[in-house]
Amino acid sequence: MDNCLFCKIVKGEIPADIVYENKDILGFRDIDPKAPLHILIIPKKHIESINKLKISDKHLAGELIFASKEIAKNEGIDSKGFRTIINTNEDGGQTVYHIHMHIMGGRQMKWPPG
Ligand code: 5GP
Ligand code: ZN
Repeated sequence: MDNCLFCKIVKGEIPADIVYENKDILGFRDIDPKAPLHILIIPKKHIESINKLKISDKHLAGELIFASKEIAKNEGIDSKGFRTIINTNEDGGQTVYHIHMHIMGGRQMKWPPG
């Protein structure tokens, strides 16, 4: 998608601090971290949001969770714990319309989130 910020990161047109990559997935540090560790995981393929997932994206959607597991281990926050979040549309607080999973850790998270 030409005008998508995260597609531009996938294409290397915008720099990002990449911490994880495989053929389908990219993980990079959030530019405005809300926790000591705040990483975003995206599919390289442009999918706007959870609402736009197709049955054929099932495996890809699962890969986001498995990438969060690997990243949390690599970053040393797996045993203490971390939070994964996918915001969807306006009420969910989505601001970038390329599906992404937040991984946040390094501090105690509160519940319920705001
Ligand atoms: P959302 O609000 O859509 O769930 O999350 C979007 C996230 O993308 C925000 O946490 C925001 O800080 C992050 N973000 C926005 N622009 C950039 C950017 O250019 N680079 C990186 N690394 N993160 C970004
Ligand atoms: Zn995109």
